[in-house]
Amino acid sequence: MDEKNFVHELKSPAFSGIIFWAIFSLLGVFSEPRNDFFKESMLMTNLIKQAAVDLVKGKYAIALTGAGISTESGIPDFRGPSGVWTRDPEAERRAYRVYAQFQEDPKRYWIDRLTIPSLLGNLDQYAPNPGHLALAEMEKMGILKWVITQNVDGLHQKAGSRRVLDYHGNAFKLRCVSCGSRFESGDFDLKKIMGEDRLPPLCSGCGGVLKSDVVHFHEPIPSDVAEQSLEEASRCDVALICGTSAVVYPFARLPQVAKQRPPGSKSVIIEINAEPTPLTERGISDYLLQGKTGEMLPKILEEVKGLKGIKK
Ligand code: NAD
Repeated sequence: MDEKNFVHELKSPAFSGIIFWAIFSLLGVFSEPRNDFFKESMLMTNLIKQAAVDLVKGKYAIALTGAGISTESGIPDFRGPSGVWTRDPEAERRAYRVYAQFQEDPKRYWIDRLTIPSLLGNLDQYAPNPGHLALAEMEKMGILKWVITQNVDGLHQKAGSRRVLDYHGNAFKLRCVSCGSRFESGDFDLKKIMGEDRLPPLCSGCGGVLKSDVVHFHEPIPSDVAEQSLEEASRCDVALICGTSAVVYPFARLPQVAKQRPPGSKSVIIEINAEPTPLTERGISDYLLQGKTGEMLPKILEEVKGLKGIKK
């Protein structure tokens, strides 16, 4: 084909059509993901605003939190993509036997706790992240009435939350299995007690055996915490469910309790999680803010402040 004919080919309607089709396809390829990204971030911005409106309109908001809220502090969760159980299923099988071991031989249980490194690392070294801090500030503003947490790391308390129910106990406390009294673990020199062959530690009130306050698999939830949590979940009109896979029972029942309201009243269940959960899939949550609690909660807090006319 000579040069003249080639120019003619370029100008022919069929060839121009192909060129246009190619250009539009390329534009399509590059613009569609950007459109999706734009739509998703618009949707997220609207959901953040919606969550703030629901919190401000609500009369009794609570937060239910799980291991996901502490991952941004450096503590691994159990079932997230890089969770402890996800990476090491054998560790999960071992964890299911701990409570039976305590019942059979409390001294052995304590020796293991004092000599085998914890799966979550040394919990003393971790600090609260912006997610914990946002919830603590919402409590100070009078918006959030209680945090009910599955976490044992004490980070809500470190962040300044005062009304915290440690549903699965607190790693910094010991609990008497006879009378239920709790003690700060710092008040016991457990290594010394082990050295003097005086394990298990005993309750100063009733002489009963002390175990860690952490609730192990197959161990009943202490009745004081179980009852109050149920009461708060039945009473709330807004529940913020943050960073939980919602598969550990009986905690996972609390969002369902919060959802069931007497006729004529309604509650809003807001989920903030890195991924959808059974609460999302079964329609228990009204909406999911998919992302990190350490990013979403401070954004919701800023919107709440805006609605309340509090200077940022
Ligand atoms: P889980 O590990 O079963 O689920 C965590 C969920 O949070 C997952 O869906 C994950 O995708 C999500 N997630 C992870 N990081 C997130 C982030 N930054 N923002 C939003 N979502 C995030 O945790 P669970 O439901 O709490 O149940 C695990 C049990 O293990 C609980 O009983 C808890 O007591 C215990 N646990 C406690 C700690 C802790 O005290 N920090 C840590 C691990 C496990």
